[in-house]
Amino acid sequence: MKAVLWTGGETFELQDVPEPIPRPGQIVVKVHASAICGTDFHYADFKSQPPIIPGHEVAGVIVDKSADVGGLTIGEAVAINPVQRCGTCYACENGIGHLCLNTRHLGGEQAPGGWAEYVTADAANAHLLPRGLSFAAAALTEPVAVCYQSFLRAQSRPGQEVLILGDGPFGFLHAVIAKLLGAKTIFVAGHYDERLRRIAEQTRAVTCNSRREDLLEIVRHRTGGLGVDLVIEATGSSDAPNLGIAALRPRGTLVIFSYIWKPCPPDFGTVSMKELNLVGSCRSRGCFDPCLAWMAEGKIPAEKLVDLRVPLAEVNLAITQLKHRKKDIFKAVLLPNGN
Ligand SMILES: [Zn+2]
Ligand SMILES: [Zn+2]
Repeated sequence: MKAVLWTGGETFELQDVPEPIPRPGQIVVKVHASAICGTDFHYADFKSQPPIIPGHEVAGVIVDKSADVGGLTIGEAVAINPVQRCGTCYACENGIGHLCLNTRHLGGEQAPGGWAEYVTADAANAHLLPRGLSFAAAALTEPVAVCYQSFLRAQSRPGQEVLILGDGPFGFLHAVIAKLLGAKTIFVAGHYDERLRRIAEQTRAVTCNSRREDLLEIVRHRTGGLGVDLVIEATGSSDAPNLGIAALRPRGTLVIFSYIWKPCPPDFGTVSMKELNLVGSCRSRGCFDPCLAWMAEGKIPAEKLVDLRVPLAEVNLAITQLKHRKKDIFKAVLLPNGN
């Protein structure tokens, strides 16, 4: 079958590789849509060893399964949760299996991903698609789910003032989910007017291009000087957490969603003085099915993020476009088996 392999550095190549065979407990999925994610460009940073078939945002149709797999039928359309668990480690035994200590993450060294015509996955990680959801939208279930997880980690409530730092796909999805969960005011800060416009169109968020506007001034003005209840950090940039800390009201919560490669020391003085909550959010737990339902009902318009759909062979074109046309393209989706 055809697959795209990360072969080191920033190189991705289309190659012929053997078709996957399901191990016990596994299914084989014919991949209809597999999205490209920012983390796909960090294999070298994470010191991963090539070659790897990337792709952890995947949807398709079950075409084969191991004899021991019950409950799933060949021909069913599914989205795959990429976090495959061992079932026996501390995290798995304590209800936080999404943090499995021995995870075989789809698109990682341990488990080939979905930038391929076929992919294997643990049957336990397959989530049936509701009717009416396109494969391109369904491929985004993973990014939707991890954004919903931020609100669960924050124990957010309706009526809150929420600030989202970042106008990328994760900024978009966090804003959409904040609206769905009944946020009173949603603020979104970013660097690209066009992205902010599209986010505001979906969410009526108060947007701030922080390259030329004073975010803290805007937030204070709109919250009676108090600041927001909840900040979600979705930029990955060094100074964003401290901006979030400054924007919070007493007892507010900062969710660290992005992986921050070069963190600045947090302003722990303010954390203490305002009794702030700092929580991390990684992957998702129990979020796939509710998110799939919301997507099918149109409450999470994930498909609005998909600006580019390309066959596998054009992966490098899609990557170039993603990197150089940031303001226009939220997400690119690979269609390994055609439209
Ligand atoms: Zn991703
Ligand atoms: Zn485990």
